[in-house]
Amino acid sequence: MKIADVRVIQADIPVERPHKMSFTTLETMNFVFVRLETPDGLVGWGEAACLGGPTWSEESSESVAATIERYIAPWLVGREAGEIEPLARELARRVQGNPFARAAVEMALWDLNGKALGVPVHRLLGGRVRDRVPLSWSLAVADHDAEVEEARAKVARGHRIFKIKTAALPLAEDVARVKRLREALGPDVSLRVDANQGWDRSTALKAIRALEPWSLDFVEQPVPRWDLEGMAEIAKRVSVPIMADESCFSPHDALAIARLGGVSILGLKVTKSAGISNTLAIARIAEAAGMTCYVGCMIETSLGTAAYLQVALAAAPVTWGCELFGPLLLKGDVVRDPVRYADGCILGLDRPGLGVEVDEAAVKEWSRRA
Ligand code: MN
Repeated sequence: MKIADVRVIQADIPVERPHKMSFTTLETMNFVFVRLETPDGLVGWGEAACLGGPTWSEESSESVAATIERYIAPWLVGREAGEIEPLARELARRVQGNPFARAAVEMALWDLNGKALGVPVHRLLGGRVRDRVPLSWSLAVADHDAEVEEARAKVARGHRIFKIKTAALPLAEDVARVKRLREALGPDVSLRVDANQGWDRSTALKAIRALEPWSLDFVEQPVPRWDLEGMAEIAKRVSVPIMADESCFSPHDALAIARLGGVSILGLKVTKSAGISNTLAIARIAEAAGMTCYVGCMIETSLGTAAYLQVALAAAPVTWGCELFGPLLLKGDVVRDPVRYADGCILGLDRPGLGVEVDEAAVKEWSRRA
């Protein structure tokens, strides 16, 4: 099963409402879609979702597209598509860093293999340990009244977990938001906080202590990603569990975090970790270190969401659910039959490959005009 053709498509899809985070307010998501085809016409798809330029990490949809077009596609054509691991290793040698670009390609290889074998990717990963994953919705609304209303409306429809995006506002305002949400939603709803690296050590410590009365499940990435020691130290001094997201891209990062102690949850994202294999490796390191995992997102379409979902279904340490809400926040999608949600969960996918069928007309509709 050789790879005969590699195509890279850049696309932009707006979000339903501006998404306000510590580092940017997002109005449109930028995507790169990768389409691999065999000589028999079998097709595999991958996706890299970028939060409006190189804001969350160094990569942008433009850099991802350029890396794949110029440095990956030429050597991938003619290669054996079934060799996912050898190809991923060669890719890591040819392309330093650039995990989003590598993930989009690796994802497409898994999709192609699952489709060729007629099995869902989670079967190739060892089978699924759950058939649905509890879903977190991210609250990142500029207007505080509208934010409470958005959360209430979700709870009325059976939603149970929220992640509050903080550190874009002064600390007192964030604390007031969390207090108001807890009071409005009651004690049975799960609340988490994500600072997206937005606090320094002393602010983070002050913030987490101020937030402690509002029963948070965890606080995510309180300090900059390079400050592993600061994060470990903070985690040891507060009672709320601390999760690493931007600090944990690779299995090496996961090992370093585990060695420092303190942090008890690792956030998994297929894109930041250069693909499904590395993401599962991080989950295994977490498990070996007595930590647990959560599946984050970059606000993917149903295609990228399906790839993350395969991991969330197969990785036992994912005990904190996921935030695979991208298709609910985006104004458009690129598959015929979007991922489905029920009872506050995203439902498992059991169709071959990543489990979704890309609608090429929809990809074209959202694709970037030159
Ligand atoms: Mn995060």
